[in-house]
Amino acid sequence: MNTSEAPNPISTRLLQWYTPDAHGMPWRGCGDPYGIWLSEVMLQQTQISTVIPYWNKFMDHYPDIAQLANADEESVLEDWAGLGYYSRGRNLHRAAKKMVEEHRSQFPRDPEKVRALPGVGEYTTAAICSIAFGSELAVVDGNVERVICRHQKLSGDPKRGETKLRIREVSTEWLHPDRPGDHNQAMMDLGRTVCTPRNPKCDECPIAEDCQARIAGEPHRWPQPKKRRTVEKQQWISALFSWNEKILLLPGNTELLKNHPGPVLARSEGDLDTETALIEEFARRNLGTPVIIGFGDRFRHTITHRQLDVQPVLCSWQGPVPDEARLIDAEASSKLPVLHRKALQNLLPLLGAECEKDEK
Ligand code: SF4
Repeated sequence: MNTSEAPNPISTRLLQWYTPDAHGMPWRGCGDPYGIWLSEVMLQQTQISTVIPYWNKFMDHYPDIAQLANADEESVLEDWAGLGYYSRGRNLHRAAKKMVEEHRSQFPRDPEKVRALPGVGEYTTAAICSIAFGSELAVVDGNVERVICRHQKLSGDPKRGETKLRIREVSTEWLHPDRPGDHNQAMMDLGRTVCTPRNPKCDECPIAEDCQARIAGEPHRWPQPKKRRTVEKQQWISALFSWNEKILLLPGNTELLKNHPGPVLARSEGDLDTETALIEEFARRNLGTPVIIGFGDRFRHTITHRQLDVQPVLCSWQGPVPDEARLIDAEASSKLPVLHRKALQNLLPLLGAECEKDEK
């Protein structure tokens, strides 16, 4: 506790407004650095309502660092399926192992050691250390940037140069010296629920009194818009193998869902027809010639800036099952990443017909 500094008036108003359990987040008030870390990693680019059931599942399946570290990666990723950005799930597992090896299965208190964990950046370090240990570190994410840019009427891109530096300065000036965790969570809540991107609810805002953007009458004009990343449209083929009424999955080796077992994925751009693209990809992966059973309905799937148009194809696996392959039942598709699940679901009618043929 720091008794030498008086809190900034902004923070005093923020904390009077803050209600920790207003949004039903089970990790709020849990006081456990492990649970706080899980929530912060899961919340990266994911909505709270989506995260809540995953957080409960992880706390149930892996109640502490050692149990997460001792689980096999495949199980962790299966539990992660549906949350997206699989590297986060993989990093969670690697970080748990590192804490077992280097920190005696305890969550480190030193921000530098927290920052050194796989998948933990500056924002996550500040969030975990301030909430779990009361470290005086201000969080800065898109929500905080928006609140500060508006309150101070800062021009320029909040992610670059002078504007970025000024946002960091202000966030530190505002930070409550005795309740940094609550202050940070109040800032996040304010940006998420009141100072929203399109229609900020200035009438409900605890810091409206001296907000320069509100006084200017056009709060939505800040932060200044940045150029939008263009969405790239891509055509892909997703070739799943049927083998003895099972689905055979191979290790991923494309830029999509790399290292995650699944169908063979192949780009089919320009004039290349599906069969030719598949023949080329099979040759590239030494899989022989594709034995195509049939085609499912095309579907769309978006991954970050890529909008995929996917043609699912059911192939028959010929020969012995390779060591690196995995066999699953078609009904187990819920454990697959959404892209693979959609392909499998679009191939189910063909799979049903295939199984009936096998039974005759
Ligand atoms: S007064 Fe309006 S624009 Fe200013 S911080 Fe509050 S909600 Fe955002």
